[in-house]
Amino acid sequence: MPASDYLIIDERFAGLIHINAGPEVLWDGGRWTEGPAYFPAGRYVIWSDIPNDRIMRWDEMNGAVAVFEHPCRNQNGHAVDIQGRMIACEHRGRCISRYEHDGSRKILADSFDGKPLNSPNDVIVKSDGSIWFTDPSYGVDSDYEGDAAPMEQDGRHVYRIDQAGGITRVISDMKQPNGLAFSPDESLLYVADTGGTHYPDCEPVIRVYPVTKDGKSVGAGSEFVTCSKGFFDGFRVDANGNIWSSAGDGVHCFSPDGKLLGKILIDQVVSNICFGGPKRNRLFICATTTLRSVYVNARGM
Ligand code: MG
Repeated sequence: MPASDYLIIDERFAGLIHINAGPEVLWDGGRWTEGPAYFPAGRYVIWSDIPNDRIMRWDEMNGAVAVFEHPCRNQNGHAVDIQGRMIACEHRGRCISRYEHDGSRKILADSFDGKPLNSPNDVIVKSDGSIWFTDPSYGVDSDYEGDAAPMEQDGRHVYRIDQAGGITRVISDMKQPNGLAFSPDESLLYVADTGGTHYPDCEPVIRVYPVTKDGKSVGAGSEFVTCSKGFFDGFRVDANGNIWSSAGDGVHCFSPDGKLLGKILIDQVVSNICFGGPKRNRLFICATTTLRSVYVNARGM
């Protein structure tokens, strides 16, 4: 009964889903899955199983699942850069790394202002090749998802790595910045705040920041949408600017003007999603112990 997998709040959502095609479980067996990324050239998805310290890989052609890397320094979020390379957030490595074409691993950023990063959580690549990432404290808060350690930065912030390797802090007014994404024209940067895990009065929101004309920083942010169940963690924007976000009861879909259009209901907490498949019209969903997917009538950027 796929219809029961959806909550249609606004008519527009009915046009963004296939009511006869509900989400399916592709794999189960993780502890906390996160950081999905689709690699078009290889037609596979990789994702993190953070507490088990491994990256998994699902093959689109035959459905096979294998360990991609273990141990993996408790990786979390991933992105594919404009050359098709994997960009990784490493909790235990406390860095952003890149997997090169020759198989070697290069650390792109592991400190700011002479002090170690906290534990990079999620990452995106802009069309100019710059890499933007969030640095909350989850990977140093305990030994469960990294190595417990004192936080040396003065807070949890958002950073940008330019093509020359320079790192700048772009947002410093959040509690626990987590998932992030640009609008299709890259004029807006959306960032989720999961600060409620540490600050009870911190609302579970996605904030929006205008990207400056030079594309290198952002202006003052404001609240964009509030989560009606659990937290917004990782999320993605489709080619029409709709925001598809993880939440406590599934995937929430918002219009570009911030209206909740509907939900894909999932019976586990969703941590992150990505678009994939040759047409980029398949959502891959990390939900607690599982990797799932659902075809939607929208395309990722
Ligand atoms: Mg996250």
